Amino acid sequence: MAEKNELHLPDLIQQVVGAIEELKGTYGSFQPHESLRKSQSDASSVLKELTDRLENNFPYFHPHYAAQMLKAPHPVAVAAYLATMMLNPNNHSIDASPATTEMERDVLKQMAAMFEYPEEFLGHLTWSGTTANLEALWIARELEPTKRIAHSADAHYTHSRMSEVLGTTNVSIPTEADGRMSLDALEKELQTGSIGTVVATLGTTGLGAVDPLADIIALARQYGARVHVDTAYGGFFTLIAANHLSPETARHFTALKDADSIVVDPHKHGLQPYGSGAVFFKDLSIGKFYKHDSPYTYFISDDLHFGEIQLECSRAGASAAAIWATLKLFPLTEAGLGSVLIPTRNAAASWHEHLLSSEVLMPYQKPELDIITYLPRATSMSQLDHVSHEILIQAGQGPKADQIHLATYVVQEDQLKQRGINLTHDTKDARILRSVLMKPEHEALVPTLHSKVEALATRLLS
Ligand SMILES: *Cc1c(COP(=O)(O)O)cnc(C)c1O
Repeated sequence: MAEKNELHLPDLIQQVVGAIEELKGTYGSFQPHESLRKSQSDASSVLKELTDRLENNFPYFHPHYAAQMLKAPHPVAVAAYLATMMLNPNNHSIDASPATTEMERDVLKQMAAMFEYPEEFLGHLTWSGTTANLEALWIARELEPTKRIAHSADAHYTHSRMSEVLGTTNVSIPTEADGRMSLDALEKELQTGSIGTVVATLGTTGLGAVDPLADIIALARQYGARVHVDTAYGGFFTLIAANHLSPETARHFTALKDADSIVVDPHKHGLQPYGSGAVFFKDLSIGKFYKHDSPYTYFISDDLHFGEIQLECSRAGASAAAIWATLKLFPLTEAGLGSVLIPTRNAAASWHEHLLSSEVLMPYQKPELDIITYLPRATSMSQLDHVSHEILIQAGQGPKADQIHLATYVVQEDQLKQRGINLTHDTKDARILRSVLMKPEHEALVPTLHSKVEALATRLLS
């Protein structure tokens, strides 16, 4: 049994499943069709096999997993999702989801307010950051069909893929030594007059770098270009920017309110299960691009249905419910969800300090958010690649409770040089190490993580 008043997922699940079964009962009971009937023991043994097979996973939920952007959703999100999924509302239309459409409007308002967006905006949840960005790029193309889309070389790979899907031309802007988009290079492209929309990334997926949005917006306006912000990963750091990020980084988060569109993923730093993305547009008139008619959609109520302003058709009402419940416990304030993010940021800053004073490890660059990149002090690119990979493999071996899971990141010689790291250039590129410290528990674990990696590096470099 859980301690009194301590959150206990099995109890929450029992509560919601019981309540939804009771709710269903109020419509009068019926027998499921015989085609659907299976024995409890058969279903149970399938599920036993499922949970056994799930052992074949990395421990994404555990702070020893300090690798990719993966973590478990909050228990309240799990219970809310499950409860809602049992009814399976579809946030495509109000008639298919009266309760969860209202919840979605509510959470969108809260997120828009977090970005200091105007009260009147157009936006909705999506299945993912990729679909949310696709939608923003689609609107960019509809508004400026003959122009190009510019994003940094470190933008998420799906931007160039989505440009292919949309048939637009995109241009990749080089980054500076801090991983941020180069303003000089951007201005050169803007001067050609061929850029319709600039995509700024606040929190790049690889390095967690924050593009200089305030300056990008000023430049783009000067040349008549729009600005879309992909803050799928970093968006919720807005909550702690003023007091816990560098003033320069905070300045760019403040500029979000001036962007033409914004994407954020609640399934990254919003404690949600997949798939949960969101897109926001400031200009209400873009609603005209969504006009569609079909004989089978059923918009009975006159209110705006999400299906009228989104690319996707069906979408889980359960996602909206899960965010809604989560934000009740973790409001979008520094003291609310921000309190989950502060320790992740602290973890990155403190591991960075350890790396600076290490004799065998060094930082690749200073972290802006909670993603750190670091490397063994090798003498050649081939040694760097080999030792990084071996650290990753060996840290993940041994008894389960001792394993530490890291990720690698591929860098080119010029990117190392840009950061003052000069190695014998005997291979084209090399892997370094990368850790996304996105769990608040990482803060307390940094000394353990660092000393384990340091011990491995010491042995492998000698
Ligand atoms: C994760 C991520 C995406 C893609 O989002 P998905 O939800 O994985 O589809 C896009 N941009 C950035 C910056 C991301 O971190």
